[in-house]
Amino acid sequence: MRICIIGGGLGGLAAARALVAAGHDPHVLEARSRPGGVLTTTTTDGYIREHAASSFLGSPTRGARALCEELGVPVDAASPRAKRRWVFLDGKLRAFPRNPVEMVRTDLLTWRGKLDLLREPLRPARPSGDESVYAFAARRFGAEAARAIVAPFVTGIFAADAHEVSLEAGFPKLAELDASGGMVRGLVSQGGKALFRRFAGGGKKPKTKSGLFAPHGGLGSLVDALARELGPRIRLDSPVTQIAADPRGVLVDGERWDAVVLAVPAEDAVPLVAPLPELASRLGAFHRAPTQIVYLGYPEAAVPAAVDGFGFLVAHGEDLRVLGVVFESVVWPGRAPAGHVLLRCIFGGGRDPSTAALDDAALIEHARRDLGVVLGATGTPTHASVVRWTRGVAQYQVGHRDLVRLAVSSARTHRIALAGADYRGPGVNDLCADADVIVEEVKSWT
Ligand SMILES: Cc1cc2nc3c(=O)[nH]c(=O)nc-3n(C[C@H](O)[C@H](O)[C@H](O)COP(=O)(O)OP(=O)(O)OC[C@H]3O[C@@H](n4cnc5c(N)ncnc54)[C@H](O)[C@@H]3O)c2cc1C
Repeated sequence: MRICIIGGGLGGLAAARALVAAGHDPHVLEARSRPGGVLTTTTTDGYIREHAASSFLGSPTRGARALCEELGVPVDAASPRAKRRWVFLDGKLRAFPRNPVEMVRTDLLTWRGKLDLLREPLRPARPSGDESVYAFAARRFGAEAARAIVAPFVTGIFAADAHEVSLEAGFPKLAELDASGGMVRGLVSQGGKALFRRFAGGGKKPKTKSGLFAPHGGLGSLVDALARELGPRIRLDSPVTQIAADPRGVLVDGERWDAVVLAVPAEDAVPLVAPLPELASRLGAFHRAPTQIVYLGYPEAAVPAAVDGFGFLVAHGEDLRVLGVVFESVVWPGRAPAGHVLLRCIFGGGRDPSTAALDDAALIEHARRDLGVVLGATGTPTHASVVRWTRGVAQYQVGHRDLVRLAVSSARTHRIALAGADYRGPGVNDLCADADVIVEEVKSWT
């Protein structure tokens, strides 16, 4: 089939590659003069800056690491110095517990909070239906753990308020464990099944690639490799303005195609599909929150606290504007000039959309102040820059999966498949794996 992919972000590019492999003839129409969407890597003043995603977990079998391997893009593992993560809670940085012993010792919870956590296996399974991650965490682990541990973790992924994020869509594995009787019981039963499979499969331990990874030189290298492979299949500077129904396919700005993969942010897709009102109204349910990254570079001596760990997340209710900070040059050595550190400060998202109205100088000032409070950063940064996205991180509200089902089935009636961060997972790994879903969807129209 001749397929028009609208949007050349990772969602569109990964889908295009998978469709070529499945024997189709896809072409990507991208509005901007470069592919990759929000994924961009640039170097300024010797600092290597990611404009959006900066890493991915190595474990999913059809994720970004596998795609990098297939494309011959070398990947780096995160530095062992980046293992420790921190939460800023009640005016102090506290270490995120990494194992049960640390959980017993953590100062993120009081003894009462720890006892509450221990009661998790005794609590009943979830009643059917979706709920917010916060409601889930408070119900299963207690209110303290929900605030101190789960909510900051959710902000780290969705830049969102955990009260607003869907458990089923945002954290499907937790939802599954919950439905099967709880975290401890579910993990024990899954562990038992995995052990059984290992014995049944000849006793070999499956190969895992756990940990955090990034393409050498940044996510821009993955985009470049995809663009090289797709070559003239990508048409840059080609904004689409209208998608309309056609008895023999789909019309994109008057040109007939056998099928369309709509891989632009859903909010940008709404006006494009105005001639298909039901689909337009379904797509109106999805939202990407404006997000800003402030990059600050300092001499190491000015931020001595930023030499150990991945970074910190900020709990709700603290007197800080930043949502979290990644010690970028600790995680990925070489991303700052020698003797300097690069800090990636995240603002906005669903938790604080009002920062979108701040100008660069104000955002930089907030970042400097917050780093002073949390890390004791002093002096003038040697580098300060801002990356801002109006369509930043995709937000998955409670009931998200039902909204996706409705949108997908409405799009399907017009031979349109929905791709990108708005639907089945916002992360780099999700988008790589989602390419297979798009191939399956398109298969039903051949
Ligand atoms: C600040 C930030 C930090 C992040 N950090 C991480 C992280 O550490 N790890 C992780 O896994 N994920 C992270 N993410 C998420 C991930 O980077 C994104 O969800 C993902 O890259 C989005 O890809 P996409 O293809 O869905 O959308 P986009 O990248 O937005 O691509 C959509 C494309 O559609 C094009 N387009 C729009 N309208 C039209 C039109 N009319 N015609 C043609 N083209 C059009 C746009 O120009 C764009 O290129 C982060 C995201 C942000 C914003």
